[in-house]
Amino acid sequence: MIEKRQFYINGAWVEAQAGTAHDVIDPSTEEACAVISLGGEADTNAAVAAAKAALPGWMATPVEDRIAALERVYAAYKARAEDLGPAISVEMGAPIDMAKTQQVGAGLWHLKNFITAAKAFPWEAPLGDDTPNDRIIHEAVGVCALITPWNWPMNQITLKVGAALVAGNTMVLKPSEESPLDAMIFAEIMDAADLPPGVFNLVNGDGAGVGSQLSSHPDVDMVSFTGSTRAGRLISIAAADTLKRVHLELGGKGANLVFADADDKAVKRGVLHMMNNTGQSCNAPSRMVVEASRYDAAVEEAAAVASKVTVGPASEEGRHIGPVVNGSQWEKIQALIEKGIAEGARLVAGGPGRPEGFNKGFYVRPTVFADVTNDMTIAQEEIFGPVLSILKFESEEEAVQIANDTPYGLTNYVQSSDPERRQRLARQLRSGMVEMNGESRGAGAPFGGMKMSGNGREGGSWGIHDFVEVKSVSGWAAK
Ligand code: NAD
Repeated sequence: MIEKRQFYINGAWVEAQAGTAHDVIDPSTEEACAVISLGGEADTNAAVAAAKAALPGWMATPVEDRIAALERVYAAYKARAEDLGPAISVEMGAPIDMAKTQQVGAGLWHLKNFITAAKAFPWEAPLGDDTPNDRIIHEAVGVCALITPWNWPMNQITLKVGAALVAGNTMVLKPSEESPLDAMIFAEIMDAADLPPGVFNLVNGDGAGVGSQLSSHPDVDMVSFTGSTRAGRLISIAAADTLKRVHLELGGKGANLVFADADDKAVKRGVLHMMNNTGQSCNAPSRMVVEASRYDAAVEEAAAVASKVTVGPASEEGRHIGPVVNGSQWEKIQALIEKGIAEGARLVAGGPGRPEGFNKGFYVRPTVFADVTNDMTIAQEEIFGPVLSILKFESEEEAVQIANDTPYGLTNYVQSSDPERRQRLARQLRSGMVEMNGESRGAGAPFGGMKMSGNGREGGSWGIHDFVEVKSVSGWAAK
């Protein structure tokens, strides 16, 4: 079994001062695959102190040198990409091929986009053409606590570290205790990038321990958090006393509006998108809302597509989906499937229990419910598993009403061949992102939500904006 009990603090791997042993469970087998330490207050304090000591030097480092450092991180990440895939796969259950491509690839993509964005970023710029003596300076926020989840671990770590680093912040990363192994490889990547000691630190821990210690720490200037809305609320409360900046990327309950004039692949695309990463994506299109005239055909097609989605161990090559991350997620998903049945939704694929052939491992049957109404629990709660709900709409107005009738506001989707309608809907949907006709958003596009999906924007120049203070200066050049 892998033993990785140390933390990365002040440029070195150090023993935990207050660490309790924690087994990392392989969700494909339910067996422990590694043991790590969950840190305590002494570890949190040591990491924050290192980041605080490193801050003046790193902030004052010219931006070209910070960009060069990020380029070294990018190169080191590329060099270790082969190690990251297996680590992600074993600890959170992403099938190995998917882990190597989508999971690891996401990190590379974000780092690259930050390099491009940082080169064009207006770090110091005039206020405007007719105010030559005014300068706007973008400078680091300070010591940042970066708290990340397990579902797309490298995606989220690079979105935070890349932006924080190039903006001149120093940081303490606390990855999810479910997925610490890839994060520790990432710390080795940061070490290989030869940064000044203390700029990047990693402490493992749980939410109640290191997570809340960081959130309330007086020497932490900003918390950037991705995870559940529940934890986001607790972090905001813990951060309130010190009035630190809190950046939140939380859950979602995306609607995928399928109009009668949508392309032929729209339904299949929506189902497969839902099932990707075993449904464990905050931006999953978990409510497929279909125009009445296409509804019956869509239900039939969605059921057929979901029935063909195969489930298997993360270690196996291929295009199957893996288990969900842990036993409590498995239980929660099962309870929600049962609830869907009890509240009168029509089960057309999958259902409760493990898929045939499995009696161990946190495997869930790819499940589709039809005849869901938006007041049902499965339409309102984030399930975070391979469970799709299909709803019906009669008019465009009703489609928008259903889509927006959720506490969340992360990503909505529109499938229609009418460009005017797409543009109308893009303006009306209350979400940080709207993706249409299966087209993915471009390099450096901001990722983030509204309402209970959070308040931050990550990626590209918007991601950098979230990690800087804006300083307004007069009397810049004139005598
Ligand atoms: P989680 O909130 O339980 O844990 C996320 C991280 O927060 C972990 O590192 C955990 O240790 C820490 N944490 C938990 N409680 C804390 C507390 N009280 N104080 C400080 N830290 C605490 O979430 P999860 O189960 O790991 O991740 C799944 C959730 O993340 C889903 O709801 C999903 O929608 C959301 N998510 C959102 C985005 C986004 O960008 N909007 C991206 C991915 C995942």
